Formats: sequence, C-alpha cells, structure tokens
Amino acid sequence: MLSARVAGTLLGTKESWTRRMFELAGRMREDGGGPVHDLSLGNPSLEPPARWRVAITELLRNEPPGMHRYMTNAGFADVRTFIAQRESRRWGLPLTQKNVVMTVGAAGALNVLLHSLVDPGEEVLVPAPFFSEYEHYCAHVQSRLVPVATGPDFALDPDAIAAAVTPRTRVLLLNSPNNPTGAVYDAAVLDALAGHLERLGAGRTRPLVVVEDAPYRDLMHDGTTPPGMLPRYPHAVHVTSHSKDLGLAGERIGYLVISPRLSDAELLFRACVYCNRTLGFVNAPALMQRALVEVLDHEDGKVDVGVYARRARRMAAGLRELGFHLPEPRAGFFLFPRLPEGAFAEAEAPDVAMTDALLAERCIVVPGTAFGVPGHLRLSLAAPDEAVEGALAAFARVCPRA
Ligand code: PLP
Repeated sequence: MLSARVAGTLLGTKESWTRRMFELAGRMREDGGGPVHDLSLGNPSLEPPARWRVAITELLRNEPPGMHRYMTNAGFADVRTFIAQRESRRWGLPLTQKNVVMTVGAAGALNVLLHSLVDPGEEVLVPAPFFSEYEHYCAHVQSRLVPVATGPDFALDPDAIAAAVTPRTRVLLLNSPNNPTGAVYDAAVLDALAGHLERLGAGRTRPLVVVEDAPYRDLMHDGTTPPGMLPRYPHAVHVTSHSKDLGLAGERIGYLVISPRLSDAELLFRACVYCNRTLGFVNAPALMQRALVEVLDHEDGKVDVGVYARRARRMAAGLRELGFHLPEPRAGFFLFPRLPEGAFAEAEAPDVAMTDALLAERCIVVPGTAFGVPGHLRLSLAAPDEAVEGALAAFARVCPRA
C-alpha cells in the first residue's frame, strides 16, 4: 500500500531512533515502575519567556481584522522586514524581506530548501555525526546524504569536505552549534571552508550551496554569537527557528535567510515560497510570526541558557568521572560522550548495549549508531534537574568505575 520510498524508511532500519526512544519513555512513564530519566529528545524543558505570553495575550486582545487568514506564502511582509533587519545586523549583509521566508520551524525550512535545490540522485554532504532526520529529508527528494568525517572533538574538517565534493554535490549541510555533538565551528575553519568551496565552485553551472541549519545559535553558553557562513560564502542560506531558544518547538516557527550574494537569489526565494505552499506548509503560523516581533530583542524575551549550561556541565563532569570522553560543552543542550575504554566491548554494538542497560535502569538515551557514529551516546539535557541526577545514578550503576 505504501510508496516504496516511505516504506523503506518508515519500516526499515532507518526509523528514527530518537523518536522511538522518546515514545518508549512515554510508555515507561505509565507503567508504574517509578521515575523515568529521559534524556532522549531535544524537547526544550524551559517554558517560553514571560514576554512571549504577554505578546500572545495582547495580540489576541487587540487583534487586527484578518490576523488569522491566509497571507503571502513567504510570511507577513512586515515580520520578514523585521527579521531581515535583525539578520542584517547579525551578519553585516544588506538583507531585505525578499531574502527571508518564514517557515514551519527549521525542519520546514530544510525541506523547502532541499526540494528547491536538489534533484534525484544528487548529493548532500554533511559532517558526521549529524541530526538523523536529515537522512529522511534527503530521502524525500531522492538525494544521497553523504557523511563526511570530522576531526578531534567533532571539529569541522574543511579538507575532508573539499575531498568529498563531486560533480553531483549540490548542497553542503552544516549544523553549528551541532546536534548531536554540541560542537561549534570556529571562524578560521569556516574561512578555510569558504576558500575551498569558492575554488571548487569555479566553473560549475549550478553553485554549490551551503545550507546552514542553526536552531541552537542563540543557546551559546557564554552568550556569544557563533560564526556562520553567510558573511563568508556567497551561495549560502541560513536556517533557524525558535523551537529551542524560545522553547516554542510545538508552535513551529522558523525562517530561512537567503544570501543576497547568492547567484539567482531571487529565483531561489520564489522557489522556496512555492515549496512552502506546495509541500502543504502554506505559511508559517500567523500568530507566532507576529509574536516574534514583540519578543525578540527584549530583555525578558529569552529563556535562561544558564540552566542548560549548568546541567550540561554537571552531566559532563559526572560522565568524565565514569571514564567517558567528551569536550567541555559550549552550546545547546546535547552531549555526545564516547564510551569508556572497554565498556560493553563484548557486544556487537557497545553503544546500543549500553543504551539497553540504561533502559533497564529507566534511563533513556540514544545510541551514537543512530547518528552514524557508534561508540557514543547522545544525551539531551533539555530535561529537568531530577532527570539529570537520576540519569547520572543510572550511568554509575551500568558502568562502575574501573
Ligand atoms: N535541525 C536540527 C539540528 C535539530 O536538532 C532540529 C530539532 O531537533 C531541527 C533542525 C528541527 O527544528 P524545528 O523544531 O525548528 O523544526
């Protein structure tokens, strides 16, 4: 009954591990067996900022006629102008509303872009490990997701990326700060990458496009702004959302920003608007678009990143004591520790075996295998403090100190 493409990913081994573990956690919560220490999904545990609630209430109290109707598929023009001005300040580029498409989260933006840019059989490069949904997004456009190895502590390796580019490469998908590793790509490394891509792109009829997926960009633990490709490389599109930094994952608000220096920027804008409509998103949620204008840039319009930073540091320190290896967390709420030397070494897949052992302790994590990098675990610290403490105790039970 199903299409071969969907059947292959839905029923095959490629079904999302993260979702599977999250749903398992849901079932465990109802089995009466005690608390579940669920570190599986990046579902923000902090509530949206106070300012957002005020903005929504005000918008509904004084709603202008037609606020909830259809709009242009790119999103409200005044909201896009507001976003364009903010992004211009951030990147030092002259952006207008014609560079911005409001989307149904970052996921909506990525699907719109892949449909707009990639033909069946073409390649999308991605540094590994990567957000596992990318595989499914690429499957929808029948393209091949090509993982590229990263360096120590998952630092971007521009030489490896350059070596992986073929005539079929259409898109390089970058995600910094990264899910699952938490890595943040340095400015100097991005400069080197831009140099390589310019060189490799010379003479190509269709440019090699960098799609930069950055939903964690405003969750840097030290409050800095992570560097990006928009000011460095002309054929770049930046994607972000407020699922994570404003705790609005269920409200589905994001946007994509097309570099004005991209060749055929206007055509790509039109393609994205077309795909936003015809993929069935139609437009980003109206109320959320309006709320952004009232919330972003306000002092009480942010969640407290310090909470995620504190939990990540606490977990990282506890894991190191147990023999895990991981760099100091810098952004977001994910950790991607390497298993202690020899842990579950007798198992065919030690990370899956440890995931199962933790599961028996009612602690839920995702094995690195799900992200193409076995031997690691992915932990989401977008979880209450109790879950973090409970998980640390469970870790101590499954991997006693050497
Ligand atoms: N990209 C990455 C790297 C993510 O981790 C996520 C969500 O977990 C998304 C995209 C999707 O974000 P959104 O909820 O804004 O669609």
